[in-house]
Formats: sequence, C-alpha cells, structure tokens
Amino acid sequence: MFKKVLIANRGEIACRVIRACRELGVKTVAIHSEADKESMHVKLADQSICVGPATSSESYLNIPSIIAAAEISGADAIHPGYGFLAENTYFAEVCETCGIKFIGPKKESIEKMGDKIAAIALMKKAGVPVVPGSGGPVDADDPKVAALAKKIGYPVIIKATAGGGGKGMRIVVSEETLRNSIIMAQEEAKRAFGNPDVYMEKYVEEPHHIEFQILGDAYGKVCYLPERDCSIQRRHQKLVEESPSPFIDDALRKKMGKAAKNAAAAVGYVTVGTVEFLVDKNKKFYFMEMNTRIQVEHPVTEMITGIDLVKEQIKLAAGEKLSFNSEKIKILGHSIECRINAEDPDKDFIPCPGKIGKLYLPGGPGIRLDTHVYSGYTIPPFYDSLIAKIISFGENREESILRMQRALKEVEIEGIKNTSSLHYKIMSNGQFRKGGVATDFLPKYIFGR
Ligand code: ADP
Repeated sequence: MFKKVLIANRGEIACRVIRACRELGVKTVAIHSEADKESMHVKLADQSICVGPATSSESYLNIPSIIAAAEISGADAIHPGYGFLAENTYFAEVCETCGIKFIGPKKESIEKMGDKIAAIALMKKAGVPVVPGSGGPVDADDPKVAALAKKIGYPVIIKATAGGGGKGMRIVVSEETLRNSIIMAQEEAKRAFGNPDVYMEKYVEEPHHIEFQILGDAYGKVCYLPERDCSIQRRHQKLVEESPSPFIDDALRKKMGKAAKNAAAAVGYVTVGTVEFLVDKNKKFYFMEMNTRIQVEHPVTEMITGIDLVKEQIKLAAGEKLSFNSEKIKILGHSIECRINAEDPDKDFIPCPGKIGKLYLPGGPGIRLDTHVYSGYTIPPFYDSLIAKIISFGENREESILRMQRALKEVEIEGIKNTSSLHYKIMSNGQFRKGGVATDFLPKYIFGR
C-alpha cells in the first residue's frame, strides 16, 4: 500500500479521497490554489501545499507545480479525482516517469478511450454495440455529409471527439440546419477543448443514460457492478442519478454488464471506470463512451452494493487483487443522488458563488452527504458549482425517494442560491415517481418546454 497520497483536486471529491486514505492508514497531501486556502480539503488533509493562483490552468492543471508538490512532500502516489487532470494522458505519463503512481488506469487505456471516435471503433471490434454514425470527423462543407446524415436517418447528433460535460453537441432534425449545426458544434468544441473535431451519429430517440461501474485489477480480472441511471439531465449534464435503474430488468442488466466488462477488458483496464450506454425505448443499447476515472455519481453504487469504490480504486492501483465477482454482488436496496449546485434555478441556473452564512445540511436514516462546504465558507467563482451531493438509501425506490424529499426540505444554505428546490420538484413529479424517465424528462415535465 502507498505511504502518502497527494490529491490533485479540490471540493467534495478531494474530501472523499482523503477520507478513503485515512481509513486505509495512508497519509494525505492536499494541494490548493490561492483561492482555496480555507477549503475543507485543506483542513482535512495531513499536509497541504499551495500550487498556484486561482485560475485552474495555473494551479489544479499546473503539472510541474503538482509534481513538485508530490516530490517535496514525499508522496508516492497521486489521486486525480474527476475533472482537472483525471483523464490527461500526459499527466499520467509524467507521474510514471517521476516514479509516482497515478491512481487510475494505464495511460494507454486513457488514450484509447479519450478519443471518442477511436473508442467507438475499438468497441465495434470488441463486439460491443455502438450507435450508427460517421465513424470519423465530419466537416460542414463536405458534400458527402448530408448524404451520410440521410443514410443514418434524422434526427442526428453532432458531438465533439474530445467531448465532456455535454459541450459541443447539437441535435439536428433536418438537412436545413445540418451545416450550421456542424459549424456551431465545431466552434464550441474548439473553445471548450482546444480541438474543433466533431462527429455525427444517430440521435437515439427517448434515450436513457445507463452506465456501468467496472473495476479491474493488474492481473487481468475485470468485474462490473449494477447500473446507474443518469437520465435526469439538464443540457446533457447529469443532475440526478439512481441505482438500480427502474428501466432495466435482470436479464438486460446481465447483458449490458457483460458488454461493459468486455469494453473494459478490451483496453486492459485497471482500477475503476465507467462504461456509458444509451438505451432506446425498445431497450436496445449502444456504447457511448468510457470514463477512465471515479465519477461524481459513484456513491449510489456504493450504497446499494456496500463496496467503497474509492478504497477499492486505491487498493487496485497499489497492486491488490480484485476480491469479488459480478455474479456474487447483491443489490441491497435503492439509492438516489441529487447534485446540489450553487446556482439560481429561477434565473437560468446562473452560478451563485459567495459566502455561506447559516448552514444546515440534512442527515438521519438513509441519508449521506458528500460536501466540502461549511458555515462561513466562501464559494470561489473560479470552479464548478457543485456544493453538495445528497445521497439517499432505502429498502426500495419509494423509501429512497421519501428520504430524499425529507432531506431536501431540511436543507438551509444562507447567503447563496442553490438547486435543492428543483430537486424537490423532481422527486415529487408523477412521471419520476413512476420511474424509467428518458433524458427529455426535465424539459418536458419540469420546465414545460
Ligand atoms: P459528454 O462526454 O459531453 O458528457 P456523452 O457522450 O457522455 O457526452 O453524452 C452526454 C449526454 O448527451 C448523454 O447522456 C445523452 O443524454 C446525450 N447524448 C449523447 N449522444 C447521444 C445520442 N447519440 N443520442 C441521444 N442522446 C445522446
């Protein structure tokens, strides 16, 4: 096992990793920007080092500073969390060169799954079903593109090859808007990822976002855990996740789980990762992408399986063997996660950074809180707006929802706007209560457009 882990991240995930390390008896080093010196992760870690100014490119993405911090503190491993450098092949390579273990998959796995077009081609070869599409970048002025769109069949979706966070995507319903949509998606992709390449695929109608947690050890064993349903999204970004999915039955779970396992095995996957699928209204499923890191929504899987995924991730990176099989995993109940953001739901979700006054966060039976905020904490304007994840657990879906509703009513965050009222609306909605809603749920049933 490692002696000291540096956490190259901030916010709730840095706190989550520190907690896992502490339970494993591993010392921790927090890094932080100048804007984050009063952050919870800095207070929780055994040691902390400032790596640069507020701007992420100068601090949380500053590879030389982070490596120097690891060397100065004597850390033998780095946990990247999610976002920032978590899926950066170059960073994984630098860590390796410096003799510091990167807690994640091999750099080749990140590379193979990082380019969405290459990943789709690889999955096709491995026998995993994929969405019909261009199979390569498309250009607005290529005369063959319109013919291809017609062949695939409208609606189609234009997506960034370097995509993430739902950026650089455009749904196209007819040829009239195809050219413009490609240009707009390219511009957005260039701004967000520095790479303008986009590709085209069939827009799966009434899609359900279903993903599988997978774990792999360094000796070739891979296993999958029961699915997460992340269909409740705003602008292609997840807001609510639950497990198990009310849309999936045992037979489909097994079939998709095996496909996820094959996907991970095809890139020799080690540690934890997620294989994302789209499932259409006829329950046909398609590989979408693989995320080669721990995900924001990992707690719902932890709640229903009893497995601590972050501890497992660290143990697998340290060379331990995977100690369980997919077939033996029991679903212990039902879990839901609501992402509470510092945003104003009444003003088009504009971010609301600022100082938190009085703070009351819920607890009680079946409620877990993953957060880094505290009373008197100032949320800086430089980073994402996630301030807390409320995770409920119940014997069944109904109990999990009732507990979440109860918890959401208890939330009191003075001084900043947050999205807990929107989550309450979702939990109370008749369609949501029925279960199995698709990704159009929010615009259709909550925002009424
Ligand atoms: P990102 O990496 O930006 O998060 P994803 O490929 O994971 O992008 O897609 C994010 C969301 O966009 C999906 O959960 C789904 O709602 C929607 N989406 C992506 N591809 C398709 C598709 N072919 N058909 C329908 N919806 C899609």
